[in-house]
Amino acid sequence: MTLVSKYSQALYQKPIADCNDSELYQVLLALVKDKAQDLPTNNQKKKLYYFSAEFLIGKLLSNNLLNLGLYDQVSQELQAAGKNMMDIEDAEQEPSLGNGGLGRLAACFLDSIASLGLNGDGLGLNYHFGLFKQVFEANEQKSIPDEWITDSSWLVKSHHHYTVSYRDFDLESSLYDIDVLGYERNTRNRLRLFDIDSVNPKIIHDDSIDFDKTNIKENLTLFLYPDDSDHAGELLRVYQQYFMVSNGAQLIIDEALAKGSNLHDLADYAVIQINDTHPALVIPEMIRLLNQVHGLPVEEAVDIVKSMTAYTNHTILAEALEKWPLADLEAIVPEIADIIKYLDARMKENFINPELAIIDDLNRVHMARLSIHYGYSINGVAALHTDILKESELKDFYQAYPEKFNNKTNGITFRRWLMDANPDLAAYLDQLLGDQWRHSHDLSGLAAYQADADVQAKLDAIKVGNKAKLNHFLQGRMDVSIKDDSIIDVQIKRIHEYKRQQMLALYIIHKYFDIKAGNKPARPITILFGGKAANAYTIARDIIHLILCLSELIAKDPEVAPYLQVVMVENYNVTAAHYLIPAADISEQISLASKEASGTGNMKFMVNGALTVATMDGANVEIHDLVGDDNIFIFGKDSQTIVDLYANNAYRASDYYEKESIKPLVDFIVSPDLLALGNEERLNRLHQDIINKDYFMALIDLEEFIETKEKVYQAYEDRSTWMAKVIKNIAQAGYFSSDRTIRDYNQDIWHLEENKSAN
Ligand SMILES: *Cc1c(COP(=O)(O)O)cnc(C)c1O
Repeated sequence: MTLVSKYSQALYQKPIADCNDSELYQVLLALVKDKAQDLPTNNQKKKLYYFSAEFLIGKLLSNNLLNLGLYDQVSQELQAAGKNMMDIEDAEQEPSLGNGGLGRLAACFLDSIASLGLNGDGLGLNYHFGLFKQVFEANEQKSIPDEWITDSSWLVKSHHHYTVSYRDFDLESSLYDIDVLGYERNTRNRLRLFDIDSVNPKIIHDDSIDFDKTNIKENLTLFLYPDDSDHAGELLRVYQQYFMVSNGAQLIIDEALAKGSNLHDLADYAVIQINDTHPALVIPEMIRLLNQVHGLPVEEAVDIVKSMTAYTNHTILAEALEKWPLADLEAIVPEIADIIKYLDARMKENFINPELAIIDDLNRVHMARLSIHYGYSINGVAALHTDILKESELKDFYQAYPEKFNNKTNGITFRRWLMDANPDLAAYLDQLLGDQWRHSHDLSGLAAYQADADVQAKLDAIKVGNKAKLNHFLQGRMDVSIKDDSIIDVQIKRIHEYKRQQMLALYIIHKYFDIKAGNKPARPITILFGGKAANAYTIARDIIHLILCLSELIAKDPEVAPYLQVVMVENYNVTAAHYLIPAADISEQISLASKEASGTGNMKFMVNGALTVATMDGANVEIHDLVGDDNIFIFGKDSQTIVDLYANNAYRASDYYEKESIKPLVDFIVSPDLLALGNEERLNRLHQDIINKDYFMALIDLEEFIETKEKVYQAYEDRSTWMAKVIKNIAQAGYFSSDRTIRDYNQDIWHLEENKSAN
């Protein structure tokens, strides 16, 4: 009997051909879980604990099959029985444990850590309803709970329980594990998610994501990033953060003790990476446990924690740097507040600069500052970002601790974003280059084929096939069809003013006018957006509203619709990205220079053969370095110019708005045409914001953006030159493998040994 049919017989007593897709999903889930259980966990002495509020892991079935080396065998068996993997995967719910790039980075890192045979687990929380599920109603974003935990999820409940003590009560935790299988390895790691059994979905108000924020025993793990715009929400975030790190720190100590640590040598057994500042409370919590529970002197406890904790900074947006009122910590975890006061006082013996203070004059605790003083490494996530940290944002810290600063340019796992998401391209690369690239991620051999007409034609055909798959996906998700022969132009990422979806929306208005005036594009253009806006982020929701109104307006305009289509993909997530990215011709990376720390979407598009339209921001700078001026479309003001404008408070939106080329575009937001489709309050607010504030300077780069876009569409028509650029981009993408990033982390920060017994 074949592998899959053995499981279909055991589970359903019938052959594969007689099972429906959801039964087959169960069959494959059981198969993968069994195979995973056969693999021992990594057990090298020193272990990495990667703490993150988010792990945006995506669906796991096909990825796990791929990493187990079973993908081809299983797909062939299914095919022979008239079934196909893509349909079966529809039955899988995507885990809703993340939000955006930060969480996706954590997921790519877990995959690379396991694939390199390093001993490292992810530690986080098991949110029952994730961030939220985005639905569109009346051209607006609505948020509802994202119910992803079913009987057939990948979660496995462990026997571990810890007690977490708050000032007013204790909570007992349960621990769920999701196996993390490395690529062709004979060991596994785990994602470990803490939860409480008393969580209660019934406290969520109907049809919303609102609930009683004070009911911690029932709400703690309902949602990721619950709204913290009021005080109860702010407190809930602290309750969540402490729960994550207290459980994690107890687990770390238990595991080290079990391996023979005497805790004085804890740093030989464990290294902690904190992904952004949400887990920063692990520092005082670990000190508390070592000192108050395990009896080490407090000075020694501080030194141990300092020697085993490293921090990754993800943002220079001031509003995103966490600062908790000391009073909140005192109300929730007074012992932790005391330790933070002690750490602050110790640090103030050495530094008088108020910019370095952990507790500031307003009695707020700066989580990033805590992490830098009491960790041994701080890294940025792209070269430009790290430079900005050193030279402006964290300049005083860099002067105090130059040796702690380092850069680790982000990466993406090629297993998911190339092999799994774009199997046709992966198979063709095997044919051209041999399959060594599947381990090395070195695609540079492709450059030799830049001018090869056959290779160009084949890559073009793969792209057309991926457009058809995207079309099929969109029909299923939101009953929208796109034209297979159109240019696919994509901006997918969280909705944020700094990422400037509003700038692309203004371009769309320009193009709409242009087509109305009789300038028809050489071929249809499809512009796709995807992304969620934080519920409390009003302007971001207004931007979604504008895009949805434009989409409807254009679809209903027979003069324009044949040439231009705008689609806002509902509930953008990893699954949607799997379809959108391999189909894209154009990757929109248009953030205001200096504001996007790295980006990783940009890297996924590159390796899938889209060309990038970009400002010189984040890792776009490194993409530009790798491919050269001729193979990327760069526009806009550079980061130094922008940093200076902010420093001198010198940007006036009105100076740009008054321009003849810009005013009509902005004013169209409140035109009768759009008001007829939209909500007056939202459109007016957005219009006023762009004219009077435009904090992220969409207008400063708009004219240049419009010129660049026109150049890009023209360039597309020279198919051979375009394909040569595509080939150059794919050939240079190897640098952005997260395996490279993880090797760098390990060499410079973690110092873990590789598992030699693995394949
Ligand atoms: C890669 C990814 C992101 C990050 O995209 P950026 O363009 O880097 O912001 C966000 N969400 C999902 C689902 C992703 O796959």
